[in-house]
Amino acid sequence: MDDCIFCSIIRREAQASVVYEDDEVLAFMDIFPVNPGHTLVIPKGHYPSLRDLPPAIGGRIFQVAMQIERAIRNSDIPDEGTNLLLADGAVAGQEVFHLHLHVIPRLSGDRAGFRFSSANRAMPNRFALDGQAAKIKAGM
Ligand SMILES: [Zn+2]
Repeated sequence: MDDCIFCSIIRREAQASVVYEDDEVLAFMDIFPVNPGHTLVIPKGHYPSLRDLPPAIGGRIFQVAMQIERAIRNSDIPDEGTNLLLADGAVAGQEVFHLHLHVIPRLSGDRAGFRFSSANRAMPNRFALDGQAAKIKAGM
């Protein structure tokens, strides 16, 4: 797509600090990093969301993210933990509508975060969980 910043990076019309590239995947440094080392892994095709993404490319993106996480851990970039984050849809926080997986090194006290702690969530009953599981199973 012509007006997509990530497609511009793939075409090398926009600047990026590239970490990795192959025929299907490109990885480069996020220009608004949560912490040093924050990297984005993207498909080279313009797939706006997970629904558009061929599963094999999704697997490839995850593989590259794992390699990047390991490389960060083995470098002198501070890294006490990692978030792999994919925001699909505006409500999920997606801002660039060319699918991307964030590799985010985490440091204690970095104040980034997601309120995923189960302490803040209610536990549904088994009937509700079984109902949701059945709906998802039916679609697979
Ligand atoms: Zn694009």
